[in-house]
Amino acid sequence: MANPLFDTLFGRHADSDAPFLHLGDGRTITYRAFVSMSGRYANALTARGLEAGDRVAAQIDKSAEALALYAACARAGLVFLPLNTAYTADEVGYFVSDSGAGLFVCDPRRADDMARVAAAAGSKLDTLGGDGAGTLADAAAAATDAFDPVPRSESDLAAFLYTSGTTGRSKGAMLSQGNLLSNSRTLAEAWAFTADDVLLHALPIFHTHGLFVATNVTLTAGGSMIFLPKFDLDQMLAHLSKATTLMGVPTFYTRMLSDPRFTRDAAAHMRLFVSGSAPLLAETHRAFTERTGHRILERYGMTETNMNTSNPYDGDRRPGTVGLPLPGVELRVMDNGSEVARGETGTIEVRGPNVFQGYWNMPEKTAEELSADGWFITGDLGTQSEDGYVTIVGRGKDLIISGGFNIYPKELELLLDDQPGVLESAVIGVPHPDFGESPVALLVAAPGEMPDLDAIRATIKRDLARFKHPAVIEVIDELPRNTMGKVQKNVLREQYKAVLQAS
Ligand code: AMP
Repeated sequence: MANPLFDTLFGRHADSDAPFLHLGDGRTITYRAFVSMSGRYANALTARGLEAGDRVAAQIDKSAEALALYAACARAGLVFLPLNTAYTADEVGYFVSDSGAGLFVCDPRRADDMARVAAAAGSKLDTLGGDGAGTLADAAAAATDAFDPVPRSESDLAAFLYTSGTTGRSKGAMLSQGNLLSNSRTLAEAWAFTADDVLLHALPIFHTHGLFVATNVTLTAGGSMIFLPKFDLDQMLAHLSKATTLMGVPTFYTRMLSDPRFTRDAAAHMRLFVSGSAPLLAETHRAFTERTGHRILERYGMTETNMNTSNPYDGDRRPGTVGLPLPGVELRVMDNGSEVARGETGTIEVRGPNVFQGYWNMPEKTAEELSADGWFITGDLGTQSEDGYVTIVGRGKDLIISGGFNIYPKELELLLDDQPGVLESAVIGVPHPDFGESPVALLVAAPGEMPDLDAIRATIKRDLARFKHPAVIEVIDELPRNTMGKVQKNVLREQYKAVLQAS
């Protein structure tokens, strides 16, 4: 094929009048119209002087046009680089110059600020708003929709996604056409997607979950998406009746459960609920089943690797686990250079056609994390059961080492979450004058309740070895989370870093 990513996901549907996007305002965009739009945007991009392999950075609100920009990049052989809309001009400046983007597309409302960013990076600047208007939209409107896909192969780069970079510099993960295609084919099959599926899409499209998992899987199956600008509980409940599937981060599910309008009847017609990007509490999984009769399907992946494991579509979806390695993905749990026994904890490594091509401009970092024979060190700690189910224990960098002993925050968090009056918890390591580090436990109270900290301390004393006992247990209003629902432990560590120094 001339351009595998474009042909397989988009070009194949060029003559189809089936719906692709149902927008929040009631408009529907067919596949035919969407592919035409991608042609106009591809013409607009090449008219800016961009050539195959050039990077197009975009910090733009979610819209049909923003998605067409992704399709246009695939069609013109350009590397799409979507950026979190929350980033400040300074943060964006780093990504635009680091990637050497030939074009930076920003929100029209931020054009003045971003002109400085683009000039400093030597990039051209265009605008595209959430309403589909802007200088790039104008250029596309004036262009023809005919555009011959630029020849590419599966090994050519399709996208850069910068990692969220909670420690150190954010790294540009280079994803090839083959990386994206292999994963979308695998997932569409594993989750039984068909052209009849209607996916309720409320995720951002600057992240692997909303852009590649949700969108590419839908495109692979030829289904459609109800494309909402963001998660809004009222909107979700209003549109649910027209959907067959939902992909969300765990907070989607906890928020839906918090609303009495979300009933068994409201979810009865749904085929599948998928969760990922952050751990889904086993308790949420159970509460969801109790309320709706559906078992949420939890999967695990990351920017660098796309999706690695999934609970089965048919079969045992085990709460608290992320399921089995996906077909074609190899997974091993390692410690000190060798594989650990089943049930033991170690660092998760994966290998397969889904694994990225390395970090842009960082050969040393790439060599540290991606071995010559293709194994990627994920940085996640986990275990694998005798029958292959993977459980994530936490990020390696969240591991607490106290007086030479390893403490896995997840072990404490699971116990704390089970205590009366506790909604959720986060355990972090903070500097300790003698032990190097000590655990600090932060609890969020269940609505209208107050956890009994003395009782909790007594339970910990009874159930856990002394070196694991938190030096401090505190109730806080809420856990800091990023847009993908991940708890930002780095923020908590910073906040509590001196808590043991004074005593
Ligand atoms: P990102 O690159 O932003 O997608 O973040 C990837 C990280 O999110 C992984 O390395 C995991 O630490 C975490 N993650 C993703 N899915 C899950 C899951 N189902 N359970 C626990 N952690 C997850």
